[in-house]
Amino acid sequence: MTNRLFSAQRRNELLHNMAKQPLDVLVIGGGITGAGIVWDATLRGFHSGLIEMNDFAFGTSSRSTKLIHGGLRYLKQGEVKLVMEVGRERALLHRKVPHLAVPIPMMLPLYKGGSLGYYSSSLGLLVYDYLAGVKKIERRRMVGKDEALRLEPLLLEEGLKGAGLYYEYRTDDARLTIEILKSAHAEGAQIANYAEVTEFIYRDGKVAGVKVVDRIHGEEFELYAQYIVNACGPWVDRLRELDGSLSGKHLLLTKGVHLVVDSTRLPIRHALYFDVPDGRMIFVIPREGKTYIGTTDTVYEGDIAQPRTTKEDLDYLLAAVNRIFPTVKIGSEDVEATWAGLRPLIHEEGKKPSEISRKDEIFESETGLISIAGGKLTGFRKMAEKVIDLIVSRQTGKMERQVRPCQTEHAAICSGYEEGSSARDQDTYKQKLIDEATSLGISAHWIEEWVARYGSNAGYILEQWRKWNDDEHLQQEKEEIGQRLTETGQLEDSFPVLAELDYCVMHEMATSLEDFLLRRTSRMLFQRAQVERWIEPLSVRIGQLLGCDEKEIEKQKHGVKNALEDMVTFPNDDHAS
Ligand code: FAD
Repeated sequence: MTNRLFSAQRRNELLHNMAKQPLDVLVIGGGITGAGIVWDATLRGFHSGLIEMNDFAFGTSSRSTKLIHGGLRYLKQGEVKLVMEVGRERALLHRKVPHLAVPIPMMLPLYKGGSLGYYSSSLGLLVYDYLAGVKKIERRRMVGKDEALRLEPLLLEEGLKGAGLYYEYRTDDARLTIEILKSAHAEGAQIANYAEVTEFIYRDGKVAGVKVVDRIHGEEFELYAQYIVNACGPWVDRLRELDGSLSGKHLLLTKGVHLVVDSTRLPIRHALYFDVPDGRMIFVIPREGKTYIGTTDTVYEGDIAQPRTTKEDLDYLLAAVNRIFPTVKIGSEDVEATWAGLRPLIHEEGKKPSEISRKDEIFESETGLISIAGGKLTGFRKMAEKVIDLIVSRQTGKMERQVRPCQTEHAAICSGYEEGSSARDQDTYKQKLIDEATSLGISAHWIEEWVARYGSNAGYILEQWRKWNDDEHLQQEKEEIGQRLTETGQLEDSFPVLAELDYCVMHEMATSLEDFLLRRTSRMLFQRAQVERWIEPLSVRIGQLLGCDEKEIEKQKHGVKNALEDMVTFPNDDHAS
C-alpha cells in the first residue's frame, strides 16, 4: 500500500480532486457497505471515490452490537450456505485484523420452558461448528446446571438446565469501517466525509453524476461517474426517491438499542446470549471495564439521523437483564451510555421485525443507479464483491479500463499485521512499543489501548508523541495546552490522548471532537468519565490542528456534552426531539 495521508487537512483537496475528472465508480455512503464497495472497486483497478454526508460510520455502522457473527442465527433459519460463508468471512477478518475480530467466550444459558431446548441447542451448536469451520479450541461445549452456575454465579438458578459455551468475535464497527476506507484510500480511492449528495445529474435519462454540498465549508460540487452506487443504509430509499425510482420493494427500518453499565454493576465473565419471554434473544457483553446490553427490535419511523433510546427501550432491556440476573437490580441510574441503530431491512409483508431476513439485496433503477441494502457488518466483503461483479458485468465492451477479478480476499487491511504473523509476533510488536513508551515516560496501559484499537498502526501514535517532545513548534503548542490545563485544573496525564487525536485528525480524517471521541475511539460509550476530564485539552488541540476559532471550539464541546446527555435522557417515544 502506498502512504497517502488520509487527513482532515486534505479533505477539501480530495473533494476537489473528485470534481476534476469523472470517476469510474462513485459510492454514496461511508458506512461499512460503502467502504467495502470502494475498497473492492479500487483494488480491481477502477478509478473510484466515496462521499459521506456526516462522519464515516455515522449511521448504523457505529451503532451495531459490535460482533463479527459466526452465523448461528442463520442456522436456526436453515440458511446452511450463509452459515458457511459467514464463518469463512469471520476467520478471514480474524487473520487480517486480529484486533478487530477478537474471539470472546460466549454462554448460551438454557432454561425449562425457554425457546431453546438443551439437546436441540447442543446439536445446533455442533452442526454450526462444522458448517462455520470453527477452530478446534473454540468448538462448543455443553455444561450442566452446576457448572453453568459455577461459571456465571449471577445467573437465575430456577429452571436452569445447563448452558452451551461457544465463541463469538467482538469488533469495533466504526473502526472496521475506517480501516477499510483507509485501505481503499491507500490504493488510490478519493474519499471525503461531510459531503452530502443533494441531487442526481442525468444524461440521456441515465444517472451520470451528483450534486454535492460540503457540509463544513458550504461549497458545492458536481461529481461525475460512470457507475453510481447508493450504499446509504437506512437512507437508501431517500436516495431512490431522489432518483424517482422508489417502487416495488422498499426498506423497513427497525431500531436496536444498547445500554452500557459499569462492569461492577454486572460482573460477568462471559458474554451471554439469552432468550426473553417474547421469544427474542438478548446479548450482554463485557468490554473495557463495562458491560453492554442489547438489543431491541422495533419498527422505527422517527428521524433517521438521530434515533434515541426511549423509556420503553430502557425498561425492556432492564427487565430482561434483571430477570436473568435476579440479584443485580440494575436501574436507569446505572446506565452510563446508550446507542441506538437502525436496521435497513427489506420489507416483508406480514412478518415481525425479528423474523425478517437480514439478507442483502441489490436494486438497479432504470436510470442505472445501483442501490444496496440489508446485510450485516460481517458480510461486507461479499456484498461489495457482488456489487462490483454487477458493475463489471455491465461494462462489457464499453469500458476501456482493464479490471482484475475481486482482490479483497488476499488484500491487506490497514492496521493489520503481515500475512502469516502469529499471536506471538503481535505480542513482540506490542512489547517493543511498551519498552519504547516506558523510555519516553508513557505508561504501558496507553500502548495496550492503542494496540487494541489501532493494531499495527499504534506505533505511529507513539511516533507522534515523540515529535511532541522533540519538535520545537509542537513544544509551543504543548505549552499553550499546558497553560489551559493549569487554568482549568485538569491533569497532565492527558497528553498521550493528544498524540492520539493528532493521529486521528491527520491519518483518519477526524474533523471534530465527536468524530474522535465517538467513532474513532468509542470513548463516549465506554470511557465517559475520561471524556469529561479530557474535553478541555482536546478542544484546544483540535483548534490548533484544524485552525478553528473559539466559537467553533465551543460548538464542538457543546456537541459532545449534549450527545453525552442525550444518551442518558430517555424520551417517551421515537418522535420526541
Ligand atoms: P450505514 O452504516 O448506515 O451507512 C450509510 C451511510 O450513508 C451513513 O453514514 C449516512 O450518513 C450516509 N448517507 C446517507 N445519505 C447520504 C447522502 N445523501 N450523501 C452522502 N452520504 C449519505 N451486523 C453484524 O455483522 N454484527 C452485529 O453485531 C450487528 N449488530 C447490529 C445491531 C443493530 C442494533 C443494528 C441496527 C444492526 C446490526 N448489524 C450487525 C447490522 C450492521 O450494523 C449493518 O448491516 C451495517 O452497519 C449497515 O451498514 P451500511 O453501510 O449499509 O449503512
